[in-house]
Amino acid sequence: MDLDLVFLGTSASMPSARRAPAAFLLRRGGERLLFDCAEGTQRQLQRSAVGLPDLEEIFLTHLHADHMLGLPGMLKTFALRGREELALTVYGPKGVRELFTKLRPFLGRLPYALHPVELAPGDVLERGDYRFETFRVEHGVAAIGYALVERERPGRFDVEAADALGVPAGPERGTLQGGEPVTLVDGRVITPDAVLGTPRPGRKLVLTGDTAPSPTVVQAAYRADLLVHESTFSEEEKERARETLHATATEAAQVAQLADVRMLALTHLSPRYAGPELAREARAIFPETVVPRDFDSIEIPYPERGAPRLVKGGGAPARESPYHQAAMSRMVQIATAGDVTEAEQIQDLLRDAGIDAEIETAVAEDGLNVMVPEAALEAAQDAIEALSEPDDLIAEP
Ligand SMILES: [Zn+2]
Ligand SMILES: [Zn+2]
Repeated sequence: MDLDLVFLGTSASMPSARRAPAAFLLRRGGERLLFDCAEGTQRQLQRSAVGLPDLEEIFLTHLHADHMLGLPGMLKTFALRGREELALTVYGPKGVRELFTKLRPFLGRLPYALHPVELAPGDVLERGDYRFETFRVEHGVAAIGYALVERERPGRFDVEAADALGVPAGPERGTLQGGEPVTLVDGRVITPDAVLGTPRPGRKLVLTGDTAPSPTVVQAAYRADLLVHESTFSEEEKERARETLHATATEAAQVAQLADVRMLALTHLSPRYAGPELAREARAIFPETVVPRDFDSIEIPYPERGAPRLVKGGGAPARESPYHQAAMSRMVQIATAGDVTEAEQIQDLLRDAGIDAEIETAVAEDGLNVMVPEAALEAAQDAIEALSEPDDLIAEP
């Protein structure tokens, strides 16, 4: 069963040129579940490799504008597409019902059923082979986090043991694999434990939404495969983080460390940050930290098949044609270097990554501008990020 999370919006409070505000698409097998729905989410989906699916469930962490303003437009689009049969359930904390009462006059009549469902921290949604556990966060308003927790899977089927016991190769093996005993033709009863290994753990994925660092998050995220924690600020802005009940990259990393998770993904970045500086700050405490960009995804394999993996552009559509890219490629600034030596170092580094950078004397201020084709800007930022040089190497987006 495939499980991944597509980052559709990773910015805090407002969209920036490079990041849209909060939205994530969880894909598990054939399921498509949306978490938060900020302004522009339907367009982010349309621009992604996923497209805009006829979502049946949307999960809101809280009702701040930067997490739900995309709902009215999306609900209207579903109506315009002629959706009638398929109901839509919107889960969220207390206040979701009232939100839809207030939106009614703007939405008009919707041809499909809309069910708002209010959840309190601690509520559990049982969903077959997994469940959603909601948990309390610290954000000063009604807000919940969500943990997807898969059930344990039966252990591996031991073919040799089954052969030795004389279990025929047929439906009996399927029954045993499903956890039920079988009776053989000679009357012997074979129980599943005789042919199955120890149960294998399921996966756990935790989304905090907006929150200050909190012991309830540590508890909910304990031993998660992936913790997606907000990191609105860096440690320099810790005071702002306290005032606004948000977290810094350092604090998110401390939560991840205490919770002993496998991977930490930082999101909900204040538009003042590019990303790599927050990644460096967090990695000093918790090395397995990533800061996804919009349209990146994180794949979560079963534990025995490896660790969670950031897939750059994993939710992006196939690349546009090279002709289009070349036509688009004006030169843009990637970094500022103090002197020629430093500028050439950056140029070499980018050349290693297959990017032709140019050095330009900065018109104003100090130093030299390093310029790359706009189409290669993301790749260039990745290359510089990989080197983990000091923060000031990355130009403001
Ligand atoms: Zn927010
Ligand atoms: Zn908020």
